[in-house]
Amino acid sequence: MRSYSIAIHGGAGTLVKGMMTPEKEASYKSALKKALLIGQNILEQKGTALEAVQRSVMALEDSPLFNAGKGSVFTANGSHEMDASIMDGQTLKAGAVSLVTGIKNPIALALDVMERTDHVFLAGAGAMDFAKHLNYQIMEDSYFYDELRHQQWIELKDTANFQLDHSQKKDNKFGTVGAVACDLQGNLAAATSTGGMTNKRFGRVGDSPMIGAGTFANNATCAVSCTGSGEYFIRGVVAYDLSCLIEYKGLSLEAAAMEVVHNRLPKLGGDGGLIAVDALGNIALPFNTEGMYRASRNNMGKVEILIYRN
Ligand code: ASP
Repeated sequence: MRSYSIAIHGGAGTLVKGMMTPEKEASYKSALKKALLIGQNILEQKGTALEAVQRSVMALEDSPLFNAGKGSVFTANGSHEMDASIMDGQTLKAGAVSLVTGIKNPIALALDVMERTDHVFLAGAGAMDFAKHLNYQIMEDSYFYDELRHQQWIELKDTANFQLDHSQKKDNKFGTVGAVACDLQGNLAAATSTGGMTNKRFGRVGDSPMIGAGTFANNATCAVSCTGSGEYFIRGVVAYDLSCLIEYKGLSLEAAAMEVVHNRLPKLGGDGGLIAVDALGNIALPFNTEGMYRASRNNMGKVEILIYRN
């Protein structure tokens, strides 16, 4: 009998065992578990992969622990600019928003772009205008304030440096969130949401809202959501590259995901990871960093919530 599967991530990076307090580790795992369960319940009740990935990502956006929605990092001018995208593997329809501010759940807005417009991607003032038109509540800056992220920004403010989320040292952690799922009908979907990078230039857009770079879904191949140094994921067109390796070269999901993350991406100088699922419900969660916040429920019903390499 056909089953469903789902995987989520909360970012990859230098997540070395022992660096975090047990309490902090437990809070990350519990946030991941909660987000996974939300998607899982939708799939269990014959809901669609599209709804499952959107709802799981919304739960991660609502947590201050991850760099998306509420937990979004600070830009160079002290604001929060968020990016998100979603794709339906059955119809190949997609929606994306970039450079949005004050939106509690950017992934919901991305889905609205997909479902309520003839466009795929709305950015900046146009995306905000669309949100206002749909009566989205615009949150105060205080909603996105987080002491740790503010401190990270203060350290970089007025420099030309920018850095990935949670970094103690430069360039070592990412906190973007994402979800991929295969529902009981065998339909796939992927969603990704992020606050980007601390002290990023105002107007900088990463891979997360770019269909083919940070997000991609096609029932014929796979659904993918990426996390890592976005510039490399854009240049490597990583999510679509993975899909192409399956489509044109006939690689398995696992082999294609390994090739992209452990061979092609490092050749460009990029680090990070991704989550992917195919229409048989196989899951791959590769990363070339020390760790990646991740949780999955495979087609055999096995649930895993992991941070480190093993
Ligand atoms: N990929 C995201 C970006 O470049 C960052 C991340 O994964 O945390 O905006």
